[in-house]
Amino acid sequence: MTTARPPASPPLPTRPVDLAVVGAGIVGLAHAVDAVERGLRVAVVERDARAVGASIRNFGHLCATPQTGTVLEYAMAAREKWLRLSEKAGFDIVRAGTLVVARSTAEMGVLEEFAAERGREQVRLLDRAGVANTFPAAHNSNEIVGGAHLPLDLRVDPRAAIPALADWLTANGVDFRWHTHAGAISPGIVHTARGDLPATAIVHASGHDVDRLFPVLAEENEVRRCKLHMLEVDPPGDIRIDPAVLTGYSMLRYGGLAATGPATEVRREITERAPETLDVVMNLMFTQRPDGAIVLGDTHHYNRTHFPFDEESVTDLVLREGARLFGVDRLTVRRRWRGIYADSPKTDFLVATPAPGVRVVSVTSGIGMTTALGLAPTVLDDLL
Ligand SMILES: Cc1cc2nc3c(=O)[nH]c(=O)nc-3n(C[C@H](O)[C@H](O)[C@H](O)COP(=O)(O)OP(=O)(O)OC[C@H]3O[C@@H](n4cnc5c(N)ncnc54)[C@H](O)[C@@H]3O)c2cc1C
Repeated sequence: MTTARPPASPPLPTRPVDLAVVGAGIVGLAHAVDAVERGLRVAVVERDARAVGASIRNFGHLCATPQTGTVLEYAMAAREKWLRLSEKAGFDIVRAGTLVVARSTAEMGVLEEFAAERGREQVRLLDRAGVANTFPAAHNSNEIVGGAHLPLDLRVDPRAAIPALADWLTANGVDFRWHTHAGAISPGIVHTARGDLPATAIVHASGHDVDRLFPVLAEENEVRRCKLHMLEVDPPGDIRIDPAVLTGYSMLRYGGLAATGPATEVRREITERAPETLDVVMNLMFTQRPDGAIVLGDTHHYNRTHFPFDEESVTDLVLREGARLFGVDRLTVRRRWRGIYADSPKTDFLVATPAPGVRVVSVTSGIGMTTALGLAPTVLDDLL
């Protein structure tokens, strides 16, 4: 049997590119997009044959509305860019917003306070029937008391959108070097396993692997790997749910919701009902893929290096809570995977200058899909 050989890689350019980017996840691509729009010559160095990191393992939820402060600013700027890029690069974007389901008076209280603060353009309160219009499980659930629709939020299928962005960048002259590991960076040069790439400016966007080339920087920012247990399950019944769906767990997580008064009561309720879900830092949520499968998650475990063997009991908890949300006895798993992103208790966005003309950029808060396209222009304004 013969195996097809990958085509030989052409030599790296000897004339410096304007911007070299290490990493073809959403953070690297966001910088490449912005540089291309500025008319620059760009090369992207990616160690894998295609992007297989956090950027294709996620929910694809562009979760802008529940954010606050700088995160909200980046998210809103990114939102506009996602909309433009979906047209240019030809990937689908779902403009159905986010549905937040409330299953107690306290959870509804969070949404009411949030709605009063943000107004109808951003938050629309729903009664139980209103939730059921989008999420039919509300018909069978005695728990669901109401919810809110956040109409500005968006959704993409990351497994389609990330390759489409890379293809669009290639068509616009970006020189992608796949399967090329960057082993070191010095001012003006990315040293790769296939030779040196000279560049006027360099962005290192390696996601959770920022500690590989920049261990001191990572230590200063207490960067660790956040591991998430993820599942694809069969949709219960013939359902189609366009918005991303969040729950009370998300009210403990996203700044705008967590800052409301009743969020304390939501935490107390969850602590009383299911403390084991807080031990695994659950954020029960889902999105539906184009083929109907429900992407269901998630849990959060933090460590610099994770034990490689996953506890099935953690997945069982997600399945138990997911079934409860859908009002069914059990869910059938199609696929399971582990996602990892960079996390820092010190900052949501790690942007550092380890050498002149070099920026290390990592979204250290688990919302890179939502924010990277808004963050990148600010990094390049400063770098170029
Ligand atoms: C399960 C899960 C669900 C999530 N859900 C959401 C969500 O719904 N919405 C949201 O906004 N965010 C979500 N996130 C967070 C989001 O996915 C990340 O913040 C974002 O994808 C990080 O992008 P990145 O480009 O930094 O990392 P990655 O996508 O991991 O890309 C980094 C790339 O750098 C490459 N690389 C690393 N080192 C080198 C090197 N030395 N040389 C060459 N290449 C290198 C890697 O191969 C990789 O392709 C989720 C994350 C996970 C894991």
